[in-house]
Amino acid sequence: MNPYGVFVTGTDTEIGKTIVSAILVKALGAAYFKPIQTGCHIDDDTATVSRLAGLSPSETFPPCYSLIEPLSPQASAACENTVVDPARIVLPQTDRPLIVEGAGGVFVPVNDGVLYVDVMAQLDLPVILVARSGLGTINHTLLSLEALRSRGLHVAGVIMSGELNPGNRQAIEEFGRVRVLLEVPKLDTVTPETIATFAAGINLDPQIIFGQPTTIAQDNIVDLDKKHVWHPFTQAQTAPNPINIVRASGATLYTDTGKTLIDCISSWWVTTHGHAHPDVSAAIAAQAETLEQVIFADFTHPPAARLAQAVTSLLPGGLDRLFYSDNGSTAVEIALKMAHQYWRNTGDTQRVRFAAFQGGYHGDTVGAMSVGLSCGFYRGFENLTFHVDFLPYPATWDDDKAIESKENQAIEAIYAYMEQYAGQVAGIIIEPLIQGASGMRMCRPEFLRRLEKAASDCNTLVIYDEVMTGFGRTGDLFACRVAGTTPDLICLSKGLSAGFLPLAATVCRSSLYEAFLGDTFDRAFAHGHSFTANPIGCAAGLASLRVMEKENTLGRIAEINAIHRTRLDAIQSHPLVEKTRLRGSIAAFEIKTHDAAATAKLNASLKKFFMDEGFFLRPLGNIVYLMPPYCLSHEDLHGTWNVIERALERL
Ligand SMILES: *Cc1c(COP(=O)(O)O)cnc(C)c1O
Repeated sequence: MNPYGVFVTGTDTEIGKTIVSAILVKALGAAYFKPIQTGCHIDDDTATVSRLAGLSPSETFPPCYSLIEPLSPQASAACENTVVDPARIVLPQTDRPLIVEGAGGVFVPVNDGVLYVDVMAQLDLPVILVARSGLGTINHTLLSLEALRSRGLHVAGVIMSGELNPGNRQAIEEFGRVRVLLEVPKLDTVTPETIATFAAGINLDPQIIFGQPTTIAQDNIVDLDKKHVWHPFTQAQTAPNPINIVRASGATLYTDTGKTLIDCISSWWVTTHGHAHPDVSAAIAAQAETLEQVIFADFTHPPAARLAQAVTSLLPGGLDRLFYSDNGSTAVEIALKMAHQYWRNTGDTQRVRFAAFQGGYHGDTVGAMSVGLSCGFYRGFENLTFHVDFLPYPATWDDDKAIESKENQAIEAIYAYMEQYAGQVAGIIIEPLIQGASGMRMCRPEFLRRLEKAASDCNTLVIYDEVMTGFGRTGDLFACRVAGTTPDLICLSKGLSAGFLPLAATVCRSSLYEAFLGDTFDRAFAHGHSFTANPIGCAAGLASLRVMEKENTLGRIAEINAIHRTRLDAIQSHPLVEKTRLRGSIAAFEIKTHDAAATAKLNASLKKFFMDEGFFLRPLGNIVYLMPPYCLSHEDLHGTWNVIERALERL
């Protein structure tokens, strides 16, 4: 079991952290650990907490450092001619949640170059900040909160200790965007009995404190799931048990058994900056406490208006009008309905046909299935779908000698089709640059430019389904920016909220929008969803765009791309590898197989091998691809390619 718990620090020294720790230990049934004890001849906090909370020896752990002088760890260690080595500070193995107590405050020196906050960041636990009530509390607490958050630490909450003052509590919650979990008044006597009485009278939610329930509740999650949950794209009868993920951070998923998995596919292509990115989660928390939801007919709100402005400003000129919804399939449905009604509103009632590209995937609702029918995922549902015409798609890869002729044929097919159904085609939908679900099938930007010209020559609309390609996957923010093209409508979803919340947008040209204006309702777009423009989702979207700037995300993507390039080149010569391809942060290649049965077997064994090695990859048939979150370190990216190479060696 990987240790999990919470780190208890304070706004200052001598403010009652140890008593608070004893209360937390008692109230949460936790174990206790103090990695650095200073002044150990005067105080032994481990013994104190153990006595006050009635812990058995197996529920406490010896400090990594016991230093004599009651000074900062750095100064105290210097008195003994030693230096504290942060690498030696590791959490003990235990199946109990841990209360880990710091020494002094946040900016307390541990050694020459390291502050205690750096050690906390290394331990990567949620943090509880103990604040002394009284004059100066607000200042000290807010400064400490900023320091913790700037290191990427998640603050589970503040505990006020000492003389109570409701004004302070309110100010800290408001300015600090934090929850005050508990107020601990000065206890007249501190004994095991008074601690037990106090702990029995409080109600702390382990989910809030540890970011996960305690082990007691956790044991039967998979059982509960198996009794009541239905999973997507899964044959439950033969599938292995689902893996219980209790926490995630950056590119890493943590299971309930303590295993870590590197998320190499951005959790089905949604995670952009990494899991639980503190900037995005803070924005979500703040928005949830301000305005969580409001009906979006008759009303608007700041996050929706600002995000619409921000997204449209990043799209090519003319794409100025944004309609919100909550998933990729729906964004596609909306684009199709908009295109359909656009022609009707302009008096062109014959334009009701849609064309799509062979292999394209656009989602699982009925309209999205209709335009995605050729991707082969919907056998048995054909008679539910409406008629769509499928055009050839010029898929390409490294050193593809035939690409020009494939593109020429595809373009000729478009012109022939448009001529055959002149005046009837409402629009053509495409996943620009990369068809995702059908196997990371890539096309060249040249093809998108020629498609744009053909559509304009033949006076029909082009819909870009950028649900997957949006927000950096292709190397720029959107595939249309890579290609230098401007569709009439564009569908966005997966990366829009950084992968935190369901949110989608269909953006169209102003000229399309204007065709819906008029004196009567029947020209209006009669479409909407309960959670249209959910404020929390929009706040996440805005925070995500800020992170893009702050972390130079496009620069990171270029670095990922460069590593992909060298590693793809290195496997080129492997006899079973073919059709290597790369665009932005997405790399893919195919493993030669004989038939469908062999492919299915290969697929299952690859997935299992990667999982056992600690990497979550989900090959599509015989196609192995990487679509990492942009925070993935170079080291972990190379680690991923190393495990792919090991998998190839075993074939
Ligand atoms: C995932 C995806 C969709 C569907 O999005 P959902 O949110 O799963 O409904 C549509 N189009 C493309 C290109 C996708 O990758």
